[in-house]
Amino acid sequence: MSICKTLYARKQLLETQLVITDLINKNMALEQENQRLKEHESDPLIWRNAKYWKDGDDVPFCPICYESPERYRYHLTPYSPTAGAIAYTCGHCKRYS
Ligand SMILES: [Zn+2]
Repeated sequence: MSICKTLYARKQLLETQLVITDLINKNMALEQENQRLKEHESDPLIWRNAKYWKDGDDVPFCPICYESPERYRYHLTPYSPTAGAIAYTCGHCKRYS
């Protein structure tokens, strides 16, 4: 095999590996999304006091993330903006407080 054919074959192989890697990543993302949607269907969170909650869980979930198409479930992190007050922030979207 000539050097040109060898280089071309290597280039083709590399491109094929990139396509496979991309497909694997897309498949993993779809599996995760599917899992989240199944979880939402079988065990939806409860809307209460402007946040989402799960029975038996004292930490609320981020409404912005949960209402996204992906149905992400991220716990909110409590903090005290002023003495005695409690607010929440989301470590994922950073938008809720
Ligand atoms: Zn969020």
